[in-house]
Amino acid sequence: MAKISARDAHKKRRAINNLKAKIDILKARFNEEVTQLQRVCPHENVIECDYQPMNPDSALPPKRVCRDCGISEDGWGSGYKILRNKREHDLKLRLHIPMVSREIVYEERIMIHPEGLETE
Ligand SMILES: [Zn+2]
Repeated sequence: MAKISARDAHKKRRAINNLKAKIDILKARFNEEVTQLQRVCPHENVIECDYQPMNPDSALPPKRVCRDCGISEDGWGSGYKILRNKREHDLKLRLHIPMVSREIVYEERIMIHPEGLETE
């Protein structure tokens, strides 16, 4: 590849920095809109994967994800808090929560608060 002048390199770098700034704005908008959707979603399109033993001392927790808004939650301990609501009883009785592979749950989730609900 032919060398470019310092002036052209500087211009190119400015263009790259402008693109990075646009990406940051889009990321912030994406996080805001997904957060809003996850706040108002009734979470009625939920799938679940089972826990996964890793070695004799540890396992990945069972996990649910709402296919409509992408929020996901681990099921250890006291169980689900967000993907369990007052309809949980009805969901279990009337609607089957499909058990799927962990890969599908990972594909469907949208992680915007990595320090939040997730433990992996
Ligand atoms: Zn939802």
